[in-house]
Amino acid sequence: MRPVFANSAFVTAPERLVLRGGRWRNIRLKVRYGLFRHPDAGLVLIDAGYGPRVTQGRRGLALRLYNALFGPELVAAGQPEAVLRRFGAAPADVSAVILSHFHADHVATLDLFPQARVFAKTRLLNRIEGRSGWRNLRHGVFAELLPEGLAARTVDIDRLAVRDAPFGLGAGRNLFGDGSVLAIDLPGHAEGHVGLCFARLPVPLLYAVDVQWLIDALSEDRQPGFPASLIADDRRALAESARRVLAFRQAGGQVLLCHEPGDSPYDLTDDPA
Ligand SMILES: [Zn+2]
Repeated sequence: MRPVFANSAFVTAPERLVLRGGRWRNIRLKVRYGLFRHPDAGLVLIDAGYGPRVTQGRRGLALRLYNALFGPELVAAGQPEAVLRRFGAAPADVSAVILSHFHADHVATLDLFPQARVFAKTRLLNRIEGRSGWRNLRHGVFAELLPEGLAARTVDIDRLAVRDAPFGLGAGRNLFGDGSVLAIDLPGHAEGHVGLCFARLPVPLLYAVDVQWLIDALSEDRQPGFPASLIADDRRALAESARRVLAFRQAGGQVLLCHEPGDSPYDLTDDPA
């Protein structure tokens, strides 16, 4: 069971902002989300990418400012409806969405899947729902992007059984009970940030989401400082998570990040499948 990753949008930023010692030239970061078909659980999404709820229509002031600041260029062919169509599926066929964290570029198309189970941290979701809009903003969370009644269809990741992930990555939550996909706590970037380890692939894959923006930035001497470090929820935890991800990679695992601009063997190509 191999996941594929689509690109929902591009975000342009100077390389220097996301890579210590990088150049000042602009690079185009991707905003990936994934999908796979689990033999029992069906069609599953990993996050939900950027979508038009961020870039157009009725939005709160803060979300409009956020959109103006980051200026994501949506990729029409990478939006979930178009990607699912390539697999002969529609949003209604998606049975579950796994949320790595609640930042806008991971939840903006969640409203397309009102029927799907959502794998997330219930304690964090409760905290978000109980907090004021401004306090959520301080954590980079736009509650207006979260559909109503999310908690009622949430499977709490933290209550699932644990299992050891390969290459010394530590314990992960066994999402489907079969050891195929383990949710790994990788704190620091955002509250409750988790990565996903596809432990049963011939070469195990760790989707480390936003532990860094670039693969090259995983090593300690290339991690960006100010102002990128401002975004981190916990800088010390972030550095430790990056160290663990790098160790997994050096031990022989494959690592994929959400925003890495380089192509990965897991990316959907432009040719229709
Ligand atoms: Zn994020």
